[in-house]
Amino acid sequence: MNGTVYLVGAGPGAPDLLTLRAARILGEADIVFHDALVHPDTVALAASAEKVAVGKRCGRHSTVQQFINKRLVDAARKHAIVVRLKGGDPMLFGRAQEEITALEAAGIRCEVVPGVTAALAAAAELKTSLTQRGLARSVTFATPRVGVDERASNWADGLKAADAGAIYMGVGEAAAIAATLLAAGKSAGLPVAVVENASLPDQRIRYTTLSALPQLAAAQITGPALILLGPQFMARTSVAADDTAQQWRNETRSAAR
Ligand code: SAH
Repeated sequence: MNGTVYLVGAGPGAPDLLTLRAARILGEADIVFHDALVHPDTVALAASAEKVAVGKRCGRHSTVQQFINKRLVDAARKHAIVVRLKGGDPMLFGRAQEEITALEAAGIRCEVVPGVTAALAAAAELKTSLTQRGLARSVTFATPRVGVDERASNWADGLKAADAGAIYMGVGEAAAIAATLLAAGKSAGLPVAVVENASLPDQRIRYTTLSALPQLAAAQITGPALILLGPQFMARTSVAADDTAQQWRNETRSAAR
């Protein structure tokens, strides 16, 4: 009889941001396939499980993903409880659908356990709500990153239309992001917050504006980082106010009148 595969969200980094359900399933697991970035203390909750790191860094994504899919299917033929432990939430930029499809095609039961996604952890650390009355009523989760075998995406359209945005996997492409959003009509002074290693001890928060984003991103961001943009990040931008932020503030003030 086949086992069950649980796609489990490990949360953004801090081990105590894990759900109780995830902790219970990890404790019962026979084998755990975990992303390279998941905190060692979280992986260690799977005390009696075999642990397999399935690094998912840039490049060779599709080959790696197919290999992971196959390993999950093979593991479920041998073990009762198989865990695929993913950073953040499995259902957001986590390639969960490919795994679910492969498991279902092989007739293997699977369940998904949600986790705290990076954007929500970043908002918590910034103490800035992603939605705010009168300021931000819509939020877009987007990434400019497309796989080698994927068709081009209109990732900027959603960001253009929404009041606020959370951009995943974007720091390496910050210049292109800024250029695309400026060309789409976003304001040069639109407040931006970049949160690196959200929820972890080495977390770093930087404030900038859309037009100055490329310079900031080029300045040694090495850990996983999220780019948040929207008018609500202005309040705290004032700490590091520059001319464009000031200009943006003036624009919004006059628009609000
Ligand atoms: N499924 C994950 C996202 C995986 S994509 C989730 O729900 O969070 C990987 C991207 O997530 C990184 O490039 C970065 O943009 C973001 N990310 C993951 N962990 C992060 C953290 N601790 N701090 C900031 N951004 C993070």
